[in-house]
Amino acid sequence: MGKATGFLEYKRKKAPERDPKVRIKDWNEYQLPFSENELKIQAARCMDCGTPFCHTGMELRGMPSGCPLYNLIPEWNDLVYQNRWQEALERLLKTNNFPEFTGRVCPAPCEGSCTVALSDDPVAIKSIEKAIIDKGFQEGWIKPNPPKVRTGKKVAVVGSGPAGLAAADQLNKAGHTVTVFEKDDRVGGLLTYGIPSMKLEKSTVDRRVNLLKQEGITFVTNTEIGKDISAEELKESFDAVLLCAGSQKHRDILIEGRESKGIYFAMDYLTKSIKGLLDGTEVISAEGKDVIVIGGGDTGADCVATALRQGAKSVVQFGKHEKMPDSRLERNPWPEYPNTFKLDYAYEEAAAVFGEDPREYLIQTKKFVADENGHVKELHTVQMEKTYHEDGTYTMKEIPGTEKVWPAQLVLIAIGFTGTEPKLLDAFQVEKTSRNTAKAKYGQYTTNVEGVFAAGDMRRGQSLVVWAIHEGREAAREIDRYLMEETFLP
Ligand SMILES: Cc1cc2nc3c(=O)[nH]c(=O)nc-3n(C[C@H](O)[C@H](O)[C@H](O)COP(=O)(O)OP(=O)(O)OC[C@H]3O[C@@H](n4cnc5c(N)ncnc54)[C@H](O)[C@@H]3O)c2cc1C
Ligand code: SF4
Repeated sequence: MGKATGFLEYKRKKAPERDPKVRIKDWNEYQLPFSENELKIQAARCMDCGTPFCHTGMELRGMPSGCPLYNLIPEWNDLVYQNRWQEALERLLKTNNFPEFTGRVCPAPCEGSCTVALSDDPVAIKSIEKAIIDKGFQEGWIKPNPPKVRTGKKVAVVGSGPAGLAAADQLNKAGHTVTVFEKDDRVGGLLTYGIPSMKLEKSTVDRRVNLLKQEGITFVTNTEIGKDISAEELKESFDAVLLCAGSQKHRDILIEGRESKGIYFAMDYLTKSIKGLLDGTEVISAEGKDVIVIGGGDTGADCVATALRQGAKSVVQFGKHEKMPDSRLERNPWPEYPNTFKLDYAYEEAAAVFGEDPREYLIQTKKFVADENGHVKELHTVQMEKTYHEDGTYTMKEIPGTEKVWPAQLVLIAIGFTGTEPKLLDAFQVEKTSRNTAKAKYGQYTTNVEGVFAAGDMRRGQSLVVWAIHEGREAAREIDRYLMEETFLP
């Protein structure tokens, strides 16, 4: 292990970040690297405990606990502490195809189940992961490594998000000839057209995609399967098909005034903003506007940060639930994911600009009101009361007399997704679940159609990058088994 007494001697440090007031003037990443010396200290805090929970990858009460990729965290912490970076990188790449993505955007369920977190702040696992892979690229240790032997089997992957990319990488490593089809003009799924650049710069995605190309994977963009190429044609041309088309069907708020101009889905807003940065195309601008983001989750936070960079006059984010507690509640014990108050990058930025956190809690929008041109001008809301019951359920009710009117010229709806667009599944005649996702058993990924598999958000529903990589890897293993009758993929 690293340093036996490290967790007693050293305190956790937050990864350095650029000054919020400065970084909102550009779209570059807000995080900064730790110094190598500081990383060594942070890695020394790992206790290498007898039964580490950080890499268990379980789901407890619907939330991840431990790393879903089973990253060998105590091992690479120890190697970083010993300055054995190249070995740490090898260990990390055994379980994670794309640590440069997770090291930047993962909510780090590993840290919530770190044993040190029982009595102190957890080990800074995510920052160490990012440092290992970034050093790997800087030092030129990561080079294209195409397979030595090809099997002659052909696999089509539909969708180039993290699930599709991880599956393609694994299948290519196993020697299959892989083609990834993407309906958008760029590869990456939500890594490219969802997660904003200040969290994940697009050059980081391109760097990985170029590596995959050099290793022999073919990418076909601007091609929608089910429209530009039929499901039948794809099945006939390939030995297996993996559907990784995500889960991006918007959830809407169907209340009075919804038809007003100036109300958009968060995804349309974010995608246009990213495309605008990359190609100079038109964006939905928040400049000089009062912006209201409906939805208290991470997508909403990304909208807040984007609106700030566009020069919004004010930004407020509405959440349906109460403010999270500062520390774990009894009903949320370790090693569950800690549902505690977090000051994400977007909220720090809003506080730096406007002097306060932009979040409003337990609030419900009752109607949108438009001006004489049909453009939204205000939102009417009411405060809610949430009552928990003994069986863990809760009820919500409006508090009379708390009605309020908010000015808004731009409203962004970020209240989640209702499953996958059905067109692709229908084209393949793949059965759906009641949640509008592909029906394919976890761990097997087979659908009701011979030779057609499904993974990632398309199977699981809108989730996390780390789960998408996990499912892509596992689905690749099952496809390899299907094609070769045995598999050496993990
Ligand atoms: C705004 C936003 C921010 C997020 N931030 C984070 C974060 O910070 N951390 C985190 O862990 N997770 C985050 N997530 C969730 C995460 O991005 C997803 O869980 C993950 O990208 C899912 O990967 P996937 O490969 O299954 O699908 P996706 O990334 O959705 O990719 C699916 C791809 O399939 C393509 N496609 C669809 N239909 C077809 C077709 N018929 N033919 C060809 N191609 C098709 C789509 O164009 C898309 O490129 C965020 C999600 C959103 C919406
Ligand atoms: S991928 Fe996420 S959960 Fe796994 S070690 Fe990295 S930050 Fe932790």
